[in-house]
Amino acid sequence: MILDEAERILTKYSLCDNCLGRQFGGLARGVTNRERGYALKLALTMEGHMGSRRGDEGGMRLLHELVSNGDFTPAFNVAGGEREKKACYLCEGILEKVQDYAKGVSRSLDGYNYSNFLIGVKISGEMAEREDRLRSEFSIEFGESLKMECSREIGKEVSRLTGKEVEFERPDIVVMLDLPEFKAKVKSMPLYIRGRYKKLVRGIPQSRWDCVHCGGRGCDICHGTGKIYPISVEEIITGPVLSVTKGNDSKFHGAGREDVDAIMIGNGRPFVIEVKEALNRSPDLAVLEGAINRAGDGRVEVLDLDYSDKKTVRSLKEKSKVAEKTYRALVEVDRPVSEEDLRELEKSFNGCLLNQYTPKRVMHRRADKLRYKKVHEMQATRLDDKKIELVVRCQGGLYVKELISGDEGRTKPSVSEVLGTGARCIELDVISVNEAV
Ligand SMILES: [Zn+2]
Ligand SMILES: [Zn+2]
Repeated sequence: MILDEAERILTKYSLCDNCLGRQFGGLARGVTNRERGYALKLALTMEGHMGSRRGDEGGMRLLHELVSNGDFTPAFNVAGGEREKKACYLCEGILEKVQDYAKGVSRSLDGYNYSNFLIGVKISGEMAEREDRLRSEFSIEFGESLKMECSREIGKEVSRLTGKEVEFERPDIVVMLDLPEFKAKVKSMPLYIRGRYKKLVRGIPQSRWDCVHCGGRGCDICHGTGKIYPISVEEIITGPVLSVTKGNDSKFHGAGREDVDAIMIGNGRPFVIEVKEALNRSPDLAVLEGAINRAGDGRVEVLDLDYSDKKTVRSLKEKSKVAEKTYRALVEVDRPVSEEDLRELEKSFNGCLLNQYTPKRVMHRRADKLRYKKVHEMQATRLDDKKIELVVRCQGGLYVKELISGDEGRTKPSVSEVLGTGARCIELDVISVNEAV
């Protein structure tokens, strides 16, 4: 049956070993399509040879077809005659050039530092159509596509030449090949590095803030810098990261953010930095950490750097909305407070569910909506008559400054409301961000 089918296909179309074998690609394991095709052609040659010895005309015809449409040497050795090479109807000879393509690809990978790659192949519409038509004409069930075979075979060869693995799930590098023209496009996939940062001084935003007057172009008000704050956590970290990875751009993802005037200490805040078009995909992270900390110069510090992935970025953002945080707040109040006031404060807020509308100070960039956030624990210490220190452990996304001031009734209850007097946060530190990333 299989031989009959192979004979019918070969009688009509000229096919290379790969393209004939590929039509039976799902059959037998551990062999290449080229071997399948060769085996079929060889078996047909033997049939033809046997027939011709018996003086059967069909046998000779089969041998001639194997020579003219199969370009098959064993048949030619028996039948002789004219031998002109026809291009393979399906691949036009692409599969004979696998070695050349692979050499070209591995040359285009020079200069990249990577551990695995994936080859993607685009073949012309015409070629894909021809294969579709042939497959429906012969009701082929087991075949694989030309595209698949090309990417697999070229991938294997590139792997042999470069010593790097083919990776389907998370390749470092993707090479897109247009065949048969051989246009290769190399794309280095984003490199993700995660870590935790501490911000040891006030007045540094997490990310760059464009100057509101010029939108970042630079004007008199921002002294030509285009930004409101001279430096940000993101810029301090990004500089050394881009310089060691030789990437051309990056994106900073933080697990939430603290206010510009808040310090971020304790175990640090998780972040992931996404580097685009990195040439060096495996920088020494201990060296990188040192370089960032030198750039941070006592203002920003990073720790626990590690390689990461896109999935972590997503979970970082999701978790930061609810993950528990602990803050230290220095609070100024309008009337003298007693120890009893503070015990009352702790009692009111331990396990308290807060109703919080979007704070007025962030209304220009956030939609106005009501949030329910939990305060797990509050500890209050009296510093002097009108100053107290609060340590607040609460759900992520709770606005602590408004928990204190009440934000003109937009946050309920508030420290101000419970004490029955004006209260303001004058210093805020994040002392821990509890989330596993
Ligand atoms: Zn072919
Ligand atoms: Zn400006």
